[in-house]
Amino acid sequence: MAKEFTFYFIVFGNFMTFETLGLSDSLLRAVAHTGYTTPTPIQTQAIPAILSGDDVMAAAQTGTGKTAGFVLPMLQQLGPHTRVTPGKVRALILTPTRELAAQVHDSILTYGKHEKLKSAVVFGGVNINPQLKALKNGVDLLVATPGRLLDLHQQRAVRFDDIELLVLDEADRMLDMGFIRDIRKIIALIPPKRQNLMFSATFSKEIRKLANSICRNPLEIDVALRNSTVEAIEQNLWFVEKSLKADLLSELIQETTEQVLVFSRTKHGANKLVKRLARDSISAVAIHGNRSQSQRTKALADFKANKVQVLVATDIAARGIDIELLALVINFDLPHVPEDYVHRIGRTGRAGASGVALSLVSNDEKKQLRAIERLIKREITVLGDYY
Ligand code: AMP
Repeated sequence: MAKEFTFYFIVFGNFMTFETLGLSDSLLRAVAHTGYTTPTPIQTQAIPAILSGDDVMAAAQTGTGKTAGFVLPMLQQLGPHTRVTPGKVRALILTPTRELAAQVHDSILTYGKHEKLKSAVVFGGVNINPQLKALKNGVDLLVATPGRLLDLHQQRAVRFDDIELLVLDEADRMLDMGFIRDIRKIIALIPPKRQNLMFSATFSKEIRKLANSICRNPLEIDVALRNSTVEAIEQNLWFVEKSLKADLLSELIQETTEQVLVFSRTKHGANKLVKRLARDSISAVAIHGNRSQSQRTKALADFKANKVQVLVATDIAARGIDIELLALVINFDLPHVPEDYVHRIGRTGRAGASGVALSLVSNDEKKQLRAIERLIKREITVLGDYY
């Protein structure tokens, strides 16, 4: 008997369930519908903290399940019934990119399907009129990119005086993308008495400064994903002559039937690669900042629907997009910022699945390689030379 008990303890003892986190029945039903049975570490920590009303500052990047980690408790705090006033918002979620905004809103719809709450998403690059309409009667939750939100505010389409909850998602990327002034403008318009949640992949000095100016005694959560992600991912590299990189890339892609996410440092480079791969009959699409919103949405949808094998992305465009279970990420070139390497490879081996990250390194990138290896505290396995 005692043995059996021990067995059960070992098998089940370390597994948290969503039921223990304090979520309402209707939210638990929505979670069950997604098929997720075990909360991720960020969810285990963030959900009870947010439900208790504390400000939260969490170090977590895309792939950790952070979206459900804040969306679920927010829905509970705001629900189950809508309490909107025309033109006003109760919870505001700011994201750096349109894609991330759309994904966060999708999560709100998924997890909030049994709640009677109103939500909307607004971002630039698309017609503003449907957004004006969506905000007219007020919403409980609004997901927004900063620039468009300020436009809407200036047009008096939205007012912030009812905001109870503020989320900054991927705060580090918002700073990188130069949104700090917009964010400060928005915050100055929101009543100070509110709950603040801040998510960021890294906690640099600058992010801490921002966090301290926004949050009150925030509860700090660090799920240490960086290292665990990095450790879970098989990381390899090829040393390759710069002019032969595209040939090698094409060969590597032809060797696999998997879908591949390829990172290019420049927009021009991404476009060139798509054309080059097409010459070898490899279907590829690019997403980057120079493409229109509808082009980006279509490229991402085609990739998700498995209509194309390869998605070529720049760092900023790829940030925050949610592509499940990607087996292979290839760095066509190395990022200048070592942290971006971690972001990039974090796109593989997500939510428990294993993945492979492969980098093509030319002679002029060896300095960047050393900086990356210093950051991840390990050497990347060399598969060979291609000269
Ligand atoms: P995120 O970090 O929020 O972008 O989520 C990464 C991916 O993990 C998304 O595709 C989610 O749908 C998925 N996910 C979120 N929570 C869980 C969970 N508890 N178990 C398994 N997958 C999850």
